[in-house]
Amino acid sequence: MFSNTLPQDVLYILKTLNQGGHEAYIVGGCVRDNILHNIPKDWDITTSAQPEETKSLFSRTFDTGIQHGTITVVLNHTNYEVTTYRVEGKYEDCRRPSSVSFTKNLEEDLLRRDFTMNAIAYHPEEGYQDPFHGMEDIQKKTIRGVGEPALRFQEDALRMLRCVRFAAQLGFNVEEETYNALMENIELIKKISVERIHDEMEKLWLCEHYEKIPLLWESGLLTEIDPLLASRLMARADTFIHELRQTPKNSILRWAMVLQEYPLQEAKTFLKKLKFDNDSLKRICLLIEHINQDLPTEGYPLRVLAGKLGIEAVEQLITLQSILRPTSSFRQSHLCLNKILADGDCLSLKELAVDGQMLMKIGVPKGKELGTLLANLLDYVHENPHFNEKQILLDKAKELMQ
Ligand code: ATP
Ligand code: MG
Repeated sequence: MFSNTLPQDVLYILKTLNQGGHEAYIVGGCVRDNILHNIPKDWDITTSAQPEETKSLFSRTFDTGIQHGTITVVLNHTNYEVTTYRVEGKYEDCRRPSSVSFTKNLEEDLLRRDFTMNAIAYHPEEGYQDPFHGMEDIQKKTIRGVGEPALRFQEDALRMLRCVRFAAQLGFNVEEETYNALMENIELIKKISVERIHDEMEKLWLCEHYEKIPLLWESGLLTEIDPLLASRLMARADTFIHELRQTPKNSILRWAMVLQEYPLQEAKTFLKKLKFDNDSLKRICLLIEHINQDLPTEGYPLRVLAGKLGIEAVEQLITLQSILRPTSSFRQSHLCLNKILADGDCLSLKELAVDGQMLMKIGVPKGKELGTLLANLLDYVHENPHFNEKQILLDKAKELMQ
């Protein structure tokens, strides 16, 4: 039964809150995941204690979102979020409540949650508190909005994307009234910040139940988010899903798969619009730029490419090509790259046996000439990996300077 699998820390938090005279339950994703025999990512606790009362009961806490009633309790280097039972005021802009207030009533707290499967509380002695029959829906593998689904999506439009993502994460169906309500409210997704849309979409690409991913465009949601992406994915939906299945679970690779048909500039614009960080943007664009080019299969040009793009990017390109262009020469490139790595060949200036200081000591002036010489020496070593030795390169530098 459930209580056997509750971590000691969680039991301790529940007991401590109870001994302080408060109600406390685990709630949300961890209860759902446990019922499904999945390992919960984290353990959320809901309690009748006010945030200040929670803080006074534990020695290490910090305020996570105290205005929303959330305190993080730290036990054995693990964080547990403890949130006071909460009701939400009227929603503004389809994304956030105008106010939150605390309540002493668990059911009111469960009522504010998105789906019945996420609105179950559990206590090891009292069992499940499940006023909206979430357990039944989990058993039926059904996602159902708590209360009136249309209203719930109108309160917070992100719930529509969460709905699709949970379907693809858990392999659940969306209950009919909930799905109809979603389709009727798709345009509200425009009110949601791009950061939250980005997060949810990324989670979706990493989901295991690929057959549910098309809900994103079948529901009309993707057209509201980005009509161009929607039409591109719809035009090759089956192939795309098949390709995604084969792509390692890595967000950079999966986004590159999603945007594979984009001209580089359009991909950049899309990624900027979704507020990707610079590093991810660069890494995805690099893959898009080279995705359709044949990769070198010989040592010299492959060392040049790996020096320019980095080993990881070349490995990722090989992976993408193995999926998208299985008849290309990706296997030879892969073998060649493995040999380069096994031999420890020099690929970048960092690994070159000489540096700027050493070249200046033999009289190379600082500045552009030094940069060009280093680049030429790197190219020389790319072509002749065995010549990456200080004396050989200094002699070569002298020769090149003449
Ligand atoms: P996972 O962490 O596996 O993605 P989760 O169900 O734990 O799923 P969280 O975003 O961690 O999802 O939220 C924890 C709980 O908070 C949910 O189970 C749900 O009860 C509630 N919740 C989260 N986001 C919303 C929302 N937008 N509207 C209503 N309730 C929400
Ligand atoms: Mg969670």
